[in-house]
Amino acid sequence: MPPQITARISAHDWLVEVPPLSSLRADQLGRWQAARIDGKLHRRLLDGRIVVYPSPTSPPQEVDASDEIHRRVAGLALELTQRIAQAGDAFALVGDGTAADLFDGLRRCSEWSAERLDDERQRFLAAYPEPVEILPPDRYRDVVVLPATGCPNGNCTFCAFYRGRGFRPLGEAEIARHLDAVVELYGPALALRTGLFLGSASALSLSNARLCRLLDLAWERIGHKRRGAAAFWDPDHSPRRSAAQWTELSQRSLRAIYVGLETGLSPLRESVGKSGALDSLVSALRSVRDAVSAESMRLGLMVLIGLGDKETARAHYDATAELIRELPLARSDVVFLSPLAGSLPPQQLTDELVQFKRRLRTLTPAQVAPYAIEHFRYFA
Ligand code: SF4
Repeated sequence: MPPQITARISAHDWLVEVPPLSSLRADQLGRWQAARIDGKLHRRLLDGRIVVYPSPTSPPQEVDASDEIHRRVAGLALELTQRIAQAGDAFALVGDGTAADLFDGLRRCSEWSAERLDDERQRFLAAYPEPVEILPPDRYRDVVVLPATGCPNGNCTFCAFYRGRGFRPLGEAEIARHLDAVVELYGPALALRTGLFLGSASALSLSNARLCRLLDLAWERIGHKRRGAAAFWDPDHSPRRSAAQWTELSQRSLRAIYVGLETGLSPLRESVGKSGALDSLVSALRSVRDAVSAESMRLGLMVLIGLGDKETARAHYDATAELIRELPLARSDVVFLSPLAGSLPPQQLTDELVQFKRRLRTLTPAQVAPYAIEHFRYFA
């Protein structure tokens, strides 16, 4: 008979599963990360909010930190402890730890009161000078560090993330305090993060000297991350970099940069608040590829699906496809297709995405993947 309760344990976290209704995952300190209670999945965000997924197909519901949910999670930890103790052969444990380690973890988890978890929320607010609004989908498990806040553009009609928040680099002392606070907030759970994301809307708008200092300091404080660092880049609001400067960043393990192309149709791009000077954007992207190989630095481009009215929609796809075809992208690069919520009826938007994905796959060696911006949460 297969085991009815399974658990996986590592030096930094653990997970217990009793399918289909219960599961619990927590870090080494016992702070819960995800809990399935009566079949509903709950996930804790670093900023203290909780997201509830009533079923695998239903949309998530966000709730502010709820004492009731924290109490139920603590109760689940106690219940799982009892069930494992009585399970005998119906329990299986894998990973780097013993049943005693797991019982210890479950005990710690049961001891986290709602008040203590609320303190974590306050620590997050103290550590991060602005909310973590968005990450590229392949960097969701990064630890975010903010060398700046806000957006150097802030004019895009389709984006509400940074409205009214101008770009502000953090001073050296602020960055040092921020890094200390982030390291303390994560604690041992920092080891669970696979990369470092230099946040706000365009960290690459900072000078190379600043970025190099920040990367040196961040690696020293946070420790090595196997996926290196990544950042958003708005080339229209950034210093032009020489090949030597790109190389400097690459040598400090900047491994991926993400650019909001949105469309290859110049007037349409301008009409939504970005520069229509696509030649300059293309030349900036080429300058990266000329300086650093695709294996050393991944390029990620974001394209909006559903942009434009009836007259321009076709031209948007044609021009975007043509521009992407001409870019020096490699298999390790990625083009993210992001459906613009509300631009078209949901089914039509999905159909557009599928069609565009098929078309791009014939034109570029880069990966082409959907990017549902609204699904991003900075999970604990
Ligand atoms: S540049 Fe990016 S972050 Fe800034 S307003 Fe436009 S879409 Fe939003």
